[in-house]
Amino acid sequence: MEVHILTICYLIASVTFILGLKMLSNPATARRGNLVAAVGMTLAILGTIFLYKDDAGNRLHNYGWIFGGLLIGAVIGTLAAKKVKMTAMPEMVSLFNGMGGACAALISIVEFNHLTHGYNAAEYPQEGFQFFSGIDKTQLLIILLGLIIGSISFAGSMIAWGKLNGKIKDFSFKGQHMLNNILILVIFGLAAYILVASPEETILYFYVIVALALFYGVLFVMPIGGADMPVVISLLNSFTGVAAACGGFLYDNKVMLTGGILVGAAGTLLTILMCKAMNRSLMNVLIGSFGGSTATGAAQQQAGGSYKEITLSDAAMVMSYANKVMIVPGYGLAVAQAQHVCHELEKVLESKGVEVKYAIHPVAGRMPGHMNVLLAEADVSYEKLLEMEQANDEFKSTDVVLILGANDVVNPAAKNDPASPIYGMPILEVEEAKTVIVNKRSMKPGYAGIENQLFFQPKTSMLFGDAKKALQDLLAEIKNV
Ligand code: NDP
Repeated sequence: MEVHILTICYLIASVTFILGLKMLSNPATARRGNLVAAVGMTLAILGTIFLYKDDAGNRLHNYGWIFGGLLIGAVIGTLAAKKVKMTAMPEMVSLFNGMGGACAALISIVEFNHLTHGYNAAEYPQEGFQFFSGIDKTQLLIILLGLIIGSISFAGSMIAWGKLNGKIKDFSFKGQHMLNNILILVIFGLAAYILVASPEETILYFYVIVALALFYGVLFVMPIGGADMPVVISLLNSFTGVAAACGGFLYDNKVMLTGGILVGAAGTLLTILMCKAMNRSLMNVLIGSFGGSTATGAAQQQAGGSYKEITLSDAAMVMSYANKVMIVPGYGLAVAQAQHVCHELEKVLESKGVEVKYAIHPVAGRMPGHMNVLLAEADVSYEKLLEMEQANDEFKSTDVVLILGANDVVNPAAKNDPASPIYGMPILEVEEAKTVIVNKRSMKPGYAGIENQLFFQPKTSMLFGDAKKALQDLLAEIKNV
């Protein structure tokens, strides 16, 4: 009976994961979706702890260890999630994803020890082949897959985390991709050898695989440019999902299997979507070094030209008498935490009869959906957020574009300069509007490290300053117009 209740718990949890994922696709329901899936996960965990019985009817014990671990994990997770700044969210995702990979790898190590329990090389030096050829090969295959994928995901995520917080710099050397290819062949070759030949040194080779997979994870992410880290994290996230699904196979645990497969599939889809948003192939991302110190291109070398500045009172005047203003938020808005004052500005302009909308680029900021989350936090209505294609249709009929801490996502080099590292990335075509006002603190480049010719065009004016301060001052001026 209890087993059936556990099956029902798992079924409910699986359904909540699917519903939660579906709800995450819309900003209006995303928060609730997260909660629904979390409730399902809690049910699955508590069900396993209290209702699970193995074939011999044994229940879980060691409740002290289990609840001690749960408590420590819950406290660390809650504090980290509460304290993290919105701009540091990709780092946190990377760190947590790495922990998932480590869990999958540790499960494999523990289960390998169970499988090979009883073998003592010192006592039975001649019996290795007999012993290892007798173990369950399907189980060993799943253990090895979970081990390899989980270890790569763990090591790769840690490097991605270090790169995002600036502690680790891009590093590559000649022949690195060749070395990576050889390494992965050796890893899978060794795994196949253990499975097929059951050598006496099986245990030693198993741990060599652990070391090589960790090393591969480091080398795999090291050369990839900083700006591509979210794509890499999403890819590693899908790896972790697959590794967790291996755990589901191992324990014949349906909810672990479903959860792992959902993470694997969602991570893969997100990776593909992000590559599409930048108009680049996954292969180009993995070998491209984009956004790293190697970023080159004509746009980077063509420093400057002359730009003009606009005063606060002129900017206030132009915007107050416009029919339509389009706000383009970017990473700088997030850093300055200027979303609330931005919403204020929108309301004041609307009270003067100006139509205000937001143009959202899919990779504006530092994580997918960054701008949507930020503006939702400030209660900006979802209907006002235009996706890139819609916004590009509307720029022609826009009087003023106000760019707030965005740079790469409005860089025309993506369209005009084949030598630019961002060439081919779809951008917000703001220069189609009548007037463009750019707020940033200086003429420094954005994440891709390249010059932006938009700033030097005749219709563009620069409004220098921290986004929050500049918007507060602009707001005061507009109220006086
Ligand atoms: P960018 O990084 O291109 O530019 C941001 C600009 O904001 C900078 O030029 C900076 O200029 C300015 N800025 C920084 N702080 C402030 C502040 N306090 N007030 C005002 N301005 C400020 O941002 P975009 O959003 O245009 O583009 C995103 C970039 O990040 C793309 O290259 C994208 O590929 C990449 N990326 C995207 C991810 C995603 O999933 N969304 C993930 C990781 C990278 P200054 O210093 O002069 O103020």
